[in-house]
Amino acid sequence: MTYVITSPCVGVKDGSCVDVCPVDCIHPAEGESDYEGVEMLYINPDECIDCGACEPACPVSAIFEESAVPANEKQYIQINADFFKNR
Ligand code: SF4
Ligand code: SF4
Repeated sequence: MTYVITSPCVGVKDGSCVDVCPVDCIHPAEGESDYEGVEMLYINPDECIDCGACEPACPVSAIFEESAVPANEKQYIQINADFFKNR
């Protein structure tokens, strides 16, 4: 399982989640080369340890455990994973 970032992050990208993630699996962080070009941040499902620290840190409640992603946001499970395939 993994945590997933969904659409409320679009345009916000404030990085509060990045600051609390113990395994640095949320990207791109501010300062990384691809940060400016993305509309939101993503969680690497292969590195997330399912700790849950990021979920309450998000000011717009964009982060959900995979099984709890709202029905109208389910596509973001794949979108988060796909971001890391070509990174
Ligand atoms: S659940 Fe934990 S490990 Fe996974 S992205 Fe959030 S803070 Fe990082
Ligand atoms: S804390 Fe929420 S809004 Fe901010 S970057 Fe992370 S997922 Fe996006």
